[in-house]
Amino acid sequence: MSIKSPVSVLPVPAFSDNYLWLVHDDRHAVVVDPGAAEPVLAALEANQLALSAILLTHHHADHAGGVPALLQRFDVPVYGPASEAIPTITQRLREGDTVTIDELSLTFSVLDVPGHTAGHIAYYCAQNDWLFCGDTLFAGGCGRLFEGTPAQMVDSLAKLAALPDRTQVYCAHEYTLSNLRFAAAVDGDNPALKERIAVEEAKRARNQPTVPSTIGLEKQTNPFLRHTDPAIVDRLLSEQRISSREPIAAFAALRESKNSFR
Ligand code: ZN
Ligand code: FE
Repeated sequence: MSIKSPVSVLPVPAFSDNYLWLVHDDRHAVVVDPGAAEPVLAALEANQLALSAILLTHHHADHAGGVPALLQRFDVPVYGPASEAIPTITQRLREGDTVTIDELSLTFSVLDVPGHTAGHIAYYCAQNDWLFCGDTLFAGGCGRLFEGTPAQMVDSLAKLAALPDRTQVYCAHEYTLSNLRFAAAVDGDNPALKERIAVEEAKRARNQPTVPSTIGLEKQTNPFLRHTDPAIVDRLLSEQRISSREPIAAFAALRESKNSFR
């Protein structure tokens, strides 16, 4: 009889700033958002893992591009958003669905989080307090609105912010320091933000990932979860980026100014 190893999450860096997430128990693995196959295959081999399933959050190539090559090596189910045209998907998911990975004794529940793309989904594993949220919520920021509206993104982020504070946020990119530079420009008097910037800069100086963060930390320091904060709204008003305190307008103004922030 073998004793079952605990399940852990391994970051697989890809491209310039993506993290492909490998969830494994030292024997079996699932991969979230394999934009490229080679680094996933290398990590599976290095850790002697067999792939059990592929989980996709949205259709962008840096998240789904590695699926065909992985399927040539592993005959596994591909879970993904029901409303996005990803030809490799075998199991189409929407909010309320669950994904059970028998090999890892894991269950994920599916959340609809449109905004970055129209059908973007997130995977939440309550038993381990894990959230895989693709390009919706980032450490210190949020995804660009390529296909959705500000109102949709506000709803999606509120859904994620309602998860327990201890929830580990596994987003798909190492954008944290640039996100926090923007956060400092719009929320500079926030002491939790100042503290976080020092902590995350130290991690990057040691070449460590800043991801995962937690929902609790994001609620304290991420301007896109703080778009109703009075100090942030006052600043947007004084810079004439908004003309009322309407929350969606404030969120849209924050997202707009982040797009052009250098
Ligand atoms: Zn994307
Ligand atoms: Fe991406």
